[in-house]
Amino acid sequence: MIAPGSALQEDIVTADLTTLAGIEAPTGLLIGGQWSTGRAGTLPVINPATEDALTEVADASPEDAIDAVGAAAQALPAWAATPPRERGEILRRAFELMKQRSEQIARLMVLENGKALKDARSEALYSAEFFRWYAEEAVRIDGSLTIAPSGANRIMAIRQPVGVSVLITPWNFPAAMATRKIGPALAAGCTVILKPAKETPLTALAVASILAEAGVPDGVVNVLTTNKAGPLTQAMLADPRVRKLSFTGSTEVGRLLLKQAAETVTNCSMELGGNAPFLVFDDADLDAAVDGAMVAKMRNGGEACTAANRFYVHERVADEFAAKLTARMAALRVGPGLDDGTDLGPLVNSDTRSKVASLVETATQDGAAVLTGGHAPDRLGYFYQPTVLDRVPAGAGILAEEIFGPVAPIVRFASQDEAITLANDTEYGLVSYLYSQDLRRCLQVAEALEAGMIGVNRGVVSDPAAPFGGVKQSGLGREGAHEGLVEFTETKYIAVDW
Ligand code: NAP
Repeated sequence: MIAPGSALQEDIVTADLTTLAGIEAPTGLLIGGQWSTGRAGTLPVINPATEDALTEVADASPEDAIDAVGAAAQALPAWAATPPRERGEILRRAFELMKQRSEQIARLMVLENGKALKDARSEALYSAEFFRWYAEEAVRIDGSLTIAPSGANRIMAIRQPVGVSVLITPWNFPAAMATRKIGPALAAGCTVILKPAKETPLTALAVASILAEAGVPDGVVNVLTTNKAGPLTQAMLADPRVRKLSFTGSTEVGRLLLKQAAETVTNCSMELGGNAPFLVFDDADLDAAVDGAMVAKMRNGGEACTAANRFYVHERVADEFAAKLTARMAALRVGPGLDDGTDLGPLVNSDTRSKVASLVETATQDGAAVLTGGHAPDRLGYFYQPTVLDRVPAGAGILAEEIFGPVAPIVRFASQDEAITLANDTEYGLVSYLYSQDLRRCLQVAEALEAGMIGVNRGVVSDPAAPFGGVKQSGLGREGAHEGLVEFTETKYIAVDW
């Protein structure tokens, strides 16, 4: 149970509950409405602020995964036939429960992910909003009826649920990445198997308990926590009962899964990596640009696919922008996420911190100047200091790779065309940000940037009602908005003669 005193349905309360900082979170696999142990034993969940194990969760094997596919396939016909209004009402109840328990969910996320409580609180509410949005979208599954050009018949197109859906999520937004997939899948009438990242299984299990409490029938939402993502996912994708893969994670793993899905021609939606440019023109409101930069860079401690990864600043305002950004970054308080006043918690694990440290080291060897930070503090936990690098040379590795940490590299440009060329010089195309007070320039540049989303004088673009997704190697398809629902449907064309 998530909140003290809140009753879960009897059949999902098992001995597999662990109490963490006053929160009881399930630790078993959820298959067909039953919590169970994993055939592969257990795996530890680590607190990145202390490097200690918080608890153990069930470790699913490929056989467990096939059981989950079976449960989802069995539950599919009844769920697909459940009136959209009823599906929407269940999602609405899940929204209310998530909102009521947002503080507990936020604290759970801090424990297993490390993020600062203020980031976790906003994620808990943001994630609940996907249930509200898709509760509303469940009753807007549209189709079309047109007259054939010949006039001989009618062309009717209806949308039907795509079917059993495998949902794979990353650790950086453990609640929101799950609800952004589960919400539209359930609204469309699909049943799901959620496989969260091994670093953050507890939040996913807590979200699943809330859905069960909200009235989601057994087998509609199944959850597999595992240390063996590769073999487990391969087994599910090879099963012809699985008709959809919705993946959020790195481009590297996304490419691998697309190849596997090709074998069974499984429908795929991919939300992959980003390398967001943040452009500041010489006519920008610099204070607003620094505010936006802090959000775009430091939301979630820099561990966001939408994180500003490269700051391109016009040479006339670069010194002032760099000084203001440095002052703000240096003032951030680094510490355990649960401490009051912490702005920046630890990174999620040791590998992530090593990658950040190595990107900074290489950039400074290449000639970048460290304006603040530039190292990990001498303390337990996977912390890294907020860092600003100036005069980063074009071609530096840090501009080509996702940093996924609290590091802001600044590059200077001389003209609008140069800024656009630099911004588009990447295989990624998730989001771009730009700051200028000239509306004409804003719109011209927004059209020229190769990205699925553009923040114009804004450092954040995420909104459940907006189509979220990337172009180029940042992904396929969209989440959120009406598009997110359509991703979980297939169009059936019925030729009618009457
Ligand atoms: P990741 O390593 O690609 O992992 C993502 C998920 O894939 C995890 O659940 C992981 O499980 C699983 N996975 C890893 N290898 C797999 C395999 N061989 N077969 C099947 N599943 C596999 O990414 P991450 O490090 O968790 O997350 C960070 C990445 O996600 C960044 O690139 C970020 O940009 C991207 N992201 C994108 C969006 C978006 O909307 N575009 C949003 C958030 C994050 P394990 O945990 O067990 O390895």
